[in-house]
Amino acid sequence: MDIGDRANPNGGTAVGQEIFQLMAELYPFCRSITGRGLRRTLEIVQRYIPLRLHEVPSGTRVFDWTVPKEWNIRDAYVRNSAGEKIIDFQKSNLHVVSYSVPIRKTVPLAELKKHLHTIPEHPDWIPYRTSYYRENWGFCLSHNDFLGLAEGEYEVVIDSTLENGSLTYGEILLEGAKKDEILISAHACHPSLANDNLSGVGLATMLAKNIATAPRKFSYRFLFIPGTIGAITWLSLNEQAARRIKSGLVLTGVGDVGNLTYKKSRRGDAEIDRAAGHILRHATPPGRIQDFSPYGYDERQFCSPGFNLPVGRLSRTPYGEYPEYHTSADSLEFVNANSLGDSYDAVRAILGVLENDSTFVNLNPNCEPQLGKRGLYASPGTYEMALLWVLNLSDGDLNLLNIAERSGLDFETILRAAAALSQAGLLKKMIE
Ligand SMILES: [Zn+2]
Repeated sequence: MDIGDRANPNGGTAVGQEIFQLMAELYPFCRSITGRGLRRTLEIVQRYIPLRLHEVPSGTRVFDWTVPKEWNIRDAYVRNSAGEKIIDFQKSNLHVVSYSVPIRKTVPLAELKKHLHTIPEHPDWIPYRTSYYRENWGFCLSHNDFLGLAEGEYEVVIDSTLENGSLTYGEILLEGAKKDEILISAHACHPSLANDNLSGVGLATMLAKNIATAPRKFSYRFLFIPGTIGAITWLSLNEQAARRIKSGLVLTGVGDVGNLTYKKSRRGDAEIDRAAGHILRHATPPGRIQDFSPYGYDERQFCSPGFNLPVGRLSRTPYGEYPEYHTSADSLEFVNANSLGDSYDAVRAILGVLENDSTFVNLNPNCEPQLGKRGLYASPGTYEMALLWVLNLSDGDLNLLNIAERSGLDFETILRAAAALSQAGLLKKMIE
């Protein structure tokens, strides 16, 4: 199977199911930007691909940042005076603010409330909160549960550790014919949240597994990293390797029912921007293209001005546009195998453009060659139009993606036409 091939012409549900099953296995873990939950997640990904795990010690300087202490948690709860656990980490790992320092004390309700987080607009949902870079502790709960809290004393227990350790990330390089690299990056630092983090992890895992056995022009580097600090750490330790990245995608939020969205790289006109734009414009239904902004996921780091890498982001509904984002409602019910399979297919199609794009020169440029006598042309149709466009624009300068864009035809048809014309001796591929 070539990289551009769709997993399943009916919507990629088989690979979508595989992604979903991996997500379901990873869903219960209490991940954070460091610690055992993240490490276990990457170890499970290793069952599918020979991911290399890197451990970067706490305190390592990475550009303007410092790798934080490692956070681990065993248990946490709040108990009322009757001895009932009214907030219980064992029921949902979202109940504890990520990176909460260990605590064991009894506090009055007014004091407890200073450390509680809820979402009044969605009173049944538990929010997801973090405090990575300011030592603090806190609990998250549904607003309905919050309203039910009576005056009194509460026993607060967070059995966590925040100590020198390391930041873990996973990396795999699948070498291709060229040293030029395509980067696929997914963050793996959120606890039980499905669309935000696990959908990207699942898709990237199955993509790496399948690309590993496909013939390929480019080398592919996959990163499974904690958001922000992981990207900064990788870039800081790999400044030279980063220069080999010719295209890249940050994958996140690829499992919900919304349509595809591609956020352009800072460059705006990089090959990945043009390839992704092309595939999304021709998708059914068409996807949305967003301009770059210096906010969002790890494209912020890859597209920081010192690197300015051609890395965009593929999602379905962008974060901030769905209320389930960063809440307990971003669960396995919020994602589905069809959407995951469709996102997978879109990534394969985008990579297929990058892999197969070439520049040709028309060997018979003086008036049109007679296609009929070569059995190439019967009656006017989309494919026949593609033949004419490829012949007309193959000047040794414009590539097939340029021709697809200019003609309004899809890349696959243009590619097929170029192959037929080459075989008929009418086109010659330029040396790349
Ligand atoms: Zn997030």
